[in-house]
Amino acid sequence: MNQYLRLGKFSFGLGDRFGHQGRAQLQACVQAAELGADFIPVWNKSNREHTFIGTEPASLRAEADAAVAALGWKHSYHVDADHIRLETVDRFLAPSDFFTIDVADSIGQPASAAAVKAFAERHPELAGSVAIPHIDQPFAISRAEVERVASKFLLAVQEAGRIYRHIAKAKGAGNFITEVSMDETDTPQTPPELLIILAALADEQIPLQTIAPKFTGRFNKGVDYVGDGRQFAKEFNEDLAVAAFASARYGLPPSLKLSVHSGSDKFSIYEPMRLALKKFNAGVHIKTAGTTWLEELIGLAEAGGDGLAIAKEIYAYAIGHVDEFCAPYASVIDIDKTKLPSAAEVNGWTSEQFVSALRHDRKNPGYNPSFRQLLHVSFKVAAKLGDRYLDALKRHEAVIAKNVTENLFERHMKPLLLGAA
Ligand SMILES: [Zn+2]
Repeated sequence: MNQYLRLGKFSFGLGDRFGHQGRAQLQACVQAAELGADFIPVWNKSNREHTFIGTEPASLRAEADAAVAALGWKHSYHVDADHIRLETVDRFLAPSDFFTIDVADSIGQPASAAAVKAFAERHPELAGSVAIPHIDQPFAISRAEVERVASKFLLAVQEAGRIYRHIAKAKGAGNFITEVSMDETDTPQTPPELLIILAALADEQIPLQTIAPKFTGRFNKGVDYVGDGRQFAKEFNEDLAVAAFASARYGLPPSLKLSVHSGSDKFSIYEPMRLALKKFNAGVHIKTAGTTWLEELIGLAEAGGDGLAIAKEIYAYAIGHVDEFCAPYASVIDIDKTKLPSAAEVNGWTSEQFVSALRHDRKNPGYNPSFRQLLHVSFKVAAKLGDRYLDALKRHEAVIAKNVTENLFERHMKPLLLGAA
């Protein structure tokens, strides 16, 4: 394919549960661009989130278009049908130009022995000592290992192919950006596994521009990375080397890059990521979503009065439904229930106390990651408030927008591309 819609080198996934922060989010990209850090904005919303909030994918396109028009954004921008599958993709086809194909459910379902054997025979280069530029030790991959990985992932790759072709038939190949996500699984993919998966995706003729592996460590929602930072850095470097190698070796698009899901708030690994990206002259896609909803709450709390009252009301409801709200997110949150203040205690808080507990400022002694994570998964409470919540967003737009922009620009974009101040 000569002509295809190409994703810029650095791109930033913007999630906006309630659809009111498009301009404030884009403003962060504007400010980053002024400093020479060009992030292409990609508004993403998953089928799951649309269902929880009761919105249609077209609303995200409308929000993106409106923000771009309002701010006079001259670069490209995209609308991502996030974590879609064959049975959920159709209503995303018209408004989206970026598709995150989620095949996690098919991972681990064994492929047929014939398909596994054919794959291993098609790819003798994957077995043995596999030297990858910029990786010190060549991978030692046995033929049995190639077959084990193929058996685990081939069905998922074939499913990705089916979904890709379904989208291409509707939109025309080359008119959209394709990402494949494997992050919502139990075990991380190692760099040698990533290499084998990329070879298989190329076989399936998917013009993959981003791939979201599951990295080592915990990428909890809305809080910092938990795990061995040195191990992450090593793996991230190796994944970058593998992606560059695979894109050349297997004819995947040269713009192929890693996508980091739950990428918000992982402050402790932004510096190793920045250094690795620089070393490889590589791009990256950082996908965020819920961090902006938390900034809405912070803005409401900071506004005081009825804004603070709504923030407290949401927390009071959430603390009464901890198990129910946390259950669907068990693998991506770590809440210490003993650290959760009671509703009565929070009711007595000032704006400053609420904001200190919620804002992701590791230097603030009042910061409470358990409080933050519980509110992260409690956006359904705000959805239930309906117009009361949306009207509050409008009333306190200025203070909320300031928080949304600052969070993305200061705490995310700057450290990722420019380094900590
Ligand atoms: Zn994901």
